[in-house]
Order: sequence, then structure tokens, then C-alpha cells
Amino acid sequence: MTNFQPRWSFDLENLGINTFKSQGLNCTYPNEHITQIEFNIMKQRILTGIRPTGKLHLGHYVGALENWIRLQEEYDCFFLIADYQALGDHIDEMENIKIAVRDVVLDWLSVGLDPEKSTFLVQSYVPEHAELALLLSMLTPLGMLDRNPTLKSERERLSNTSLSVGFYTYPVSQIADILLPKAHLVPVGEDQLPHIEMTREIARRFNNRYGEVFPEPDSLVGRVARLMGTDGQAKMSKSIGNVIYLSDDSDTVKKKIMSMYTDPTRLRATDPGHVEGNPVFQYHDAFNDDLEEVNDLKERYVQGTVGDVEVKQKLISAVNQFLDPIRDLRDKYEHDIDYVNDCIENGSAKARVTAQNTMKEVRERMGLSYSVNT
Ligand code: ATP
Ligand code: MG
Repeated sequence: MTNFQPRWSFDLENLGINTFKSQGLNCTYPNEHITQIEFNIMKQRILTGIRPTGKLHLGHYVGALENWIRLQEEYDCFFLIADYQALGDHIDEMENIKIAVRDVVLDWLSVGLDPEKSTFLVQSYVPEHAELALLLSMLTPLGMLDRNPTLKSERERLSNTSLSVGFYTYPVSQIADILLPKAHLVPVGEDQLPHIEMTREIARRFNNRYGEVFPEPDSLVGRVARLMGTDGQAKMSKSIGNVIYLSDDSDTVKKKIMSMYTDPTRLRATDPGHVEGNPVFQYHDAFNDDLEEVNDLKERYVQGTVGDVEVKQKLISAVNQFLDPIRDLRDKYEHDIDYVNDCIENGSAKARVTAQNTMKEVRERMGLSYSVNT
């Protein structure tokens, strides 16, 4: 349901009023002669989130945030700061997590996410997330976790450190995050797709066993499924540090781009270069609005008639131009920390009401009630 429109118009000659009632829709006839009306139906829900493990970067923008900004107009959005999930591999870094929670909210506000339209929540402020994760873990076979390719590669990256059970089972916690507010859609980067597939499977298992409770959510991948790191690795990632932050100042952006990985097979500016798999060109495609300039640079790169320096200088201008309005808004909200705090306090309180309703239903369906009738 990626093109869901919350406003619909129906031809009343073909649809009786009972149809609306049976779908739980409220509608009123403005007057008896009108055969065509428009009405609002309940918005579908989105749950998506980010771990508070650092500031947000360009990969988050094109892989996730850009979609969230657009979708907050059409959907009832729950934006989650997944602090439980961050603890899985950052248990001794509580101070950093604290700073990162504030940074994530600042980044969200700076790119235009609006807590008046959407719900910003912190996972641990809604402890029902932990309860549902525990219950769903009983329905999740170990083999399903073992086969999850994203978890597999993350486990390999962490193999030198002692892996916690909490980290190993984080996809289950993510499934609970999505199912708790009964989300219909989860906009994510490509690396998260195996987790959404698991979510659908676990929702099905729960519904088959206990009756229809959870929608099977769809995923929605962003404009750039996976933005490469400045070091040429497949993914720009906070944990790897190969990032350009949304909050980097223009000098930092300049330094990072000037030292970026390009085409390792190209030793001189006169050598024909590769555009495919070259992060400098992936960033040009993602952030440079001047298509003519990008195409010209690509052509000359392949022919060996442009140097890396010119390609990078043009990228610096494009990225700084893209980041300028985000920096301005961040500056504004950095001076209003009370508002930043309110966003997560109020949003989490609101999300908790939804969560408690779901958990009441889940406990009833699972039969977790032991009073004996006399
Ligand atoms: P960490 O390294 O701590 O896992 P991360 O950079 O992977 O951090 P997450 O908080 O795990 O960030 O991801 C938040 C969302 O942003 C997810 O939907 C993820 O798929 C998306 N995302 C993160 N990095 C990228 C990227 N480089 N390209 C596209 N999407 C991304
Ligand atoms: Mg991640």
C-alpha cells in the first residue's frame, strides 16, 4: 500500500451506507441530493526508527528520512528512538546514548519532521515494547534469526567483542516495535528488509494461533537503498564512522569529501575512470540537483578528462547547499532544548496509550489471565 491516499471519494449510487459502516468509517450525507461525497477515513499507521548511536548522516536522509518527511502528511507516523536496541552493542556507553537521543531529535526537527503531525517516542519510555518482544520471542524459531542476512553480517562485524543475547535477538525487539502500534508500513533502508520480512512472518504466526490482531506490514525503501560510505564501503554507517553528518559544518564537509575514496584503479586524471560503484558519483546523483553538471562530470570522468579534485569540489558545493537549510533549523532548535525534551516526553506518553491497548488485547488473546472463577 505504498501509494495510499487518506482521502477518497466514492460514488454513492454504487455504494450503500451500510458498506461504510461495515468498514468502520464515519460518513455523513451533506444532503439527500448529493450522490458524490468526500470524507476522511482513519489514516494508516507507520512505525519506523533509528538507534541512538550517534548523529544522523546523509545515508539516513536518502535511505529513510526523506520518505518519512513526505509520509507524515498522509500517515499516522510513529518515529521511534530505539534505545533498548542500542544497548545491545553499546551497554557501557550510556552517556553517548543520552547525547545521541537529543541529537536524533534535533536532526529529525532539522529535516522537517513535525511532532505536531507525528509521534516521536523513546523505546524505553514505552516498556510495553520489552513485554511484547519477550512474548514474540517465544514464537520466533532460533533458525530464523540464524538465517537473517543483516544480523549475520552485523554479528561478523562484532565477532571480536562478546556478543550479547540482547544484540543477537534485536530483530525480535524490532518486530515488537512495529507490531505494538499495529503499523501498516515501515519505511527503511535496504539493510532492514530481512527484519520486515521476519515481522510479517511473526505477525502471521501470531494471528494464526491467537486470531487476527496484527496487520502484516509492508516495507518501503528510500530513493537510495544503500548510500555508500566515504571510505567506499557498501554502507555509510554511524558505527563504522564513514559518514557525513547532517550537522557537519561546511569546512568538515569539505575535508571529508576531499579525502573520499573514489576509483582505486585510476592513478592519474588522464586515466579513464569508473562511475559505477564510485561513492563520489553516488553522492552527486543523490544530492546534486544540477543534472547537466553531473552528466558532464560523469562523461569526462569516463574519458579521463576531469580530475578527482574538480569532481569533489562540485560535490562539496552541492552537499553544502543541500545541508544549509538543515543547519539553520538545527541552530534554531538547539536554542530551544525544552521543546526538544517535550517532543519525546509527550510523544512517548501518547504512544504508551496505544501500546497499552495492544498489550491488553495480546494478553487476552494469549490467555495470560489466571484468576479462577468461583
Ligand atoms: P548503526 O551503525 O548504529 O546501526 P546506522 O547508521 O545503521 O547505525 P540505524 O539507526 O541502524 O543507522 O538505521 C536507521 C535507518 O536508516 C534504517 O532504516 C536504515 O536502513 C537507514 N540507513 C542507515 N544507513 C543507511 C545508508 N547508508 N543508506 C540507506 N539507508 C540507511
Ligand atoms: Mg544499523
